[in-house]
Amino acid sequence: MTVKARFAPSPTGLVHVGNIRTAILNYLFCRKHDGQFWLRFDDTDRERAKEEFVEAIREDLAWLGLSADEEVRQSSRTAQYELAANQLRERGLLYACYETPDELDRRRKRQLARGLPPIYDRAALKLSEQELATLHAEGRKPHWRFRLPNTVGDAADLEPKQTLVKWDDLVRGPQSVDLGSLSDPVMIREDGSYLYTFTSVVDDAEMEITHVIRGEDHTTNTGVQISLFEAMGTTPPTFGHHNLLIAADGKALSKRLGSLSIQSLREEGLEAMAVVSHAALIGTSDAIEPHAEMASLASLFSPSKLSSAPARFDPAELRGLNGKMVHELGFDAVKERLAAMGVGGGDAFWMAVRGNLEVVSDALKWWNVVNADIVPVVEDDAFLSKAAELLPEDPWDDQTWSQWTSLIKGETGAKGKALFMPLRLALTGAKSGPEMQLILPLIGSARVKQRLQGQTA
Ligand code: GLU
Repeated sequence: MTVKARFAPSPTGLVHVGNIRTAILNYLFCRKHDGQFWLRFDDTDRERAKEEFVEAIREDLAWLGLSADEEVRQSSRTAQYELAANQLRERGLLYACYETPDELDRRRKRQLARGLPPIYDRAALKLSEQELATLHAEGRKPHWRFRLPNTVGDAADLEPKQTLVKWDDLVRGPQSVDLGSLSDPVMIREDGSYLYTFTSVVDDAEMEITHVIRGEDHTTNTGVQISLFEAMGTTPPTFGHHNLLIAADGKALSKRLGSLSIQSLREEGLEAMAVVSHAALIGTSDAIEPHAEMASLASLFSPSKLSSAPARFDPAELRGLNGKMVHELGFDAVKERLAAMGVGGGDAFWMAVRGNLEVVSDALKWWNVVNADIVPVVEDDAFLSKAAELLPEDPWDDQTWSQWTSLIKGETGAKGKALFMPLRLALTGAKSGPEMQLILPLIGSARVKQRLQGQTA
């Protein structure tokens, strides 16, 4: 069996770290099993699905390196959905309902007041010919519900009974949903548009999707959808429900989606593979470490390693992971980005500063420290004047710092922090930063002399 999985976003907004994780887990699963990864836009919601979000999602996936073997749009498959819906209608499994949202709401409140579960009472199936004719005459348009297989008697028996749908979840092991506790789900809206619950099953069956890995918020849907697969005479795929992400403060991640969209992470200058590594490893039993290649993440990935508890997402942890990745990047991997920012200095500059960066664009700060005016911090004029007198002659290299500081130590007796910190503060204006032996020659003797006198250079 060839594994085939899909990422099926509804293009109603930007993709964020939480939902891209679904794409990443599916992608890695396919890579691991030499399978196919499909991208399917669930874009049947005429009000909310937008072309700009389709474009944005494509761009995000391309940036992250999640290339799809095939792309499908649900909006172009209405004929297939119509066909499947008609087959269910003929068998009485999809039925027309005319209640307005207000009517349904009032009914739910009455049920709750009487201590009954607020599930749809299948009133539409009890309408007489006469009542139906009146509704048609009023021009009321129906929405359509799927009749859940939760009754035991003949078609006239409308009373739901406990009916467990069971599956062996790739992540959570044996699972079940009681169809007896659910309303018959709406599959087609009044305006004729389809709900993804329905279209997804038609597509997954027709496209021979073998595995559906998605968030645990879909567990109830899975119960409904398995019964829909069965009603259509098809075999359901294997399901796996991954844990969801919550913010570091324990609240749902959705509250802070803006700053956590993939687009904003890209604009912040994060490495695509840091985002992928973090999303793939958070909430699993593997250590969160940077992986430069998809292949190593794919070989590590297994749905059974995902925890069933929600995973805490901390943007600082992602930035830390990004830093670790940047510390290992060779000059070739960044030279174009550095050039675009106006950062020069070639390989020597990059190797001097990369260990101090969280994102590549932080290199600009150190480029300015080396090249532009800084405000030197001067606390002990006499010490720095002495140091200036002892500066070695040009040309300087990575030995110059140790030669120079040995001379200063010999003359002044200063050592350790008392020796190095005043020099670092004067030369860089900061208490910490790249190794002085590497940036001293980059700053160069002219600027060093000026800065030791407290002058901006
Ligand atoms: N369009 C659905 C969503 O974004 C797809 C769920 C699924 O993967 O089946 O939630």
